[in-house]
Amino acid sequence: MIAQLKNIFSSTLHLFYPHVCTGCGSDLLKEDHLLCFKCIHQLPHTNFAKLANNPIEKYFWGRLPLTAAYSQFYFSKEFLIQHLIHQLKYRGDTKIGFTLAGSWEKHCRNLIALMR
Ligand SMILES: [Zn+2]
Repeated sequence: MIAQLKNIFSSTLHLFYPHVCTGCGSDLLKEDHLLCFKCIHQLPHTNFAKLANNPIEKYFWGRLPLTAAYSQFYFSKEFLIQHLIHQLKYRGDTKIGFTLAGSWEKHCRNLIALMR
């Protein structure tokens, strides 16, 4: 009964204050998500973690004593990743940071599972 009331309240609230995707503005059903599935799948992953001597490692060669480095995403102007980074950097939307970090954590877990 309480769960149903909570659901009705949440649905009614959604009519007046809809949860929208930070990337494309489409309607989101769950309020704890920031991106829709379409935007999540459009994020430009580099897969550099699986690649030795990748461009990120090469960038730091001779500058820092690193054993490995990689970037999670390609940065492209006028694309979703730029919008997300700007939301985090210039508007202080830390939820974006947690979302991107969550994606990175999931990626790392998959890599660790592959290594075992
Ligand atoms: Zn979206």
